[in-house]
Amino acid sequence: MRIELHSHTLLSDGELIPIELARRAVVKGHKALAITDHASLSNLDRLIFEAKKDVELAAEWGLDLIVGVEITHVPARRIDQVVKEARKKGAELIVIHGETVNEPVEKDTNHAAVSNPEVDILAHPGFITLEEAELAKRNDVVLEITSRRSHNPTNGHVARMALEAGARMVVNTDAHDPSDLITEETALMVARAAGLSEKDARMAVYDVPEELVRRVRGR
Ligand SMILES: [Zn+2]
Ligand SMILES: [Zn+2]
Repeated sequence: MRIELHSHTLLSDGELIPIELARRAVVKGHKALAITDHASLSNLDRLIFEAKKDVELAAEWGLDLIVGVEITHVPARRIDQVVKEARKKGAELIVIHGETVNEPVEKDTNHAAVSNPEVDILAHPGFITLEEAELAKRNDVVLEITSRRSHNPTNGHVARMALEAGARMVVNTDAHDPSDLITEETALMVARAAGLSEKDARMAVYDVPEELVRRVRGR
C-alpha cells in the first residue's frame, strides 16, 4: 500500500479539507498520509491544532493520518527556530520547502534544512549540491523525488547527488488536489524516471517511507 508524506489541504493552498483528502487517499490505496500544509510562525498553531482533529476520524478507515508541516519561504537563517517551534506545537513530520527551480526560494534554504537533524524531509531541493546531499546523509534528512510537474525537472539531478552521497530518498506527490495522489506503480515509475535502479526505487517508495512513519510514531 502507498504511503504519501507530502500533501496540502484547504488549511493552506490545497483543495480539500483534511478528512476529504484522507478519504481520497484511502480509496486510492494509501495506508498512511501526511498532511504537510505550508507553514511559518504565523499559522503553525492553527494548522496543527485543526488538522489533528481529523486524525481519529481517518483511523476509522485504517488510515494513519500524520500531521506535519511544510516550512515554506522562511528566511534560511531562521529555519532552525521555526523547526523548533513546529515540534513544540506538535508537528509530527517536518518537511522543508526546498530550493525548487520553480520559485524564488531563498538561497541556503537547502543547506539549513539538511544541517538540522530534526528535519525529516527536504522537499523538491532543485539543484542541491553534493556537499548538501552529504549533510543530508549525515543528519538523516531524506531528499524528495517529486511527481509534481512544477518541481520535477530536477529529479534526475537530485537522485544523482543523493546516490553519490548515500543520502536516502522518498517519492512524494506534494498533492494539492486529490487527482495528484498516485498509486504505488506510478510512484515506482517516477523513481525509475529519476534514474533510480529497481532496488533503489523500491527503497524510495517502500522502505524509506515505512521507516519515516515508524520514526514519527516512535517519537
Ligand atoms: Zn513545497
Ligand atoms: Zn508542498
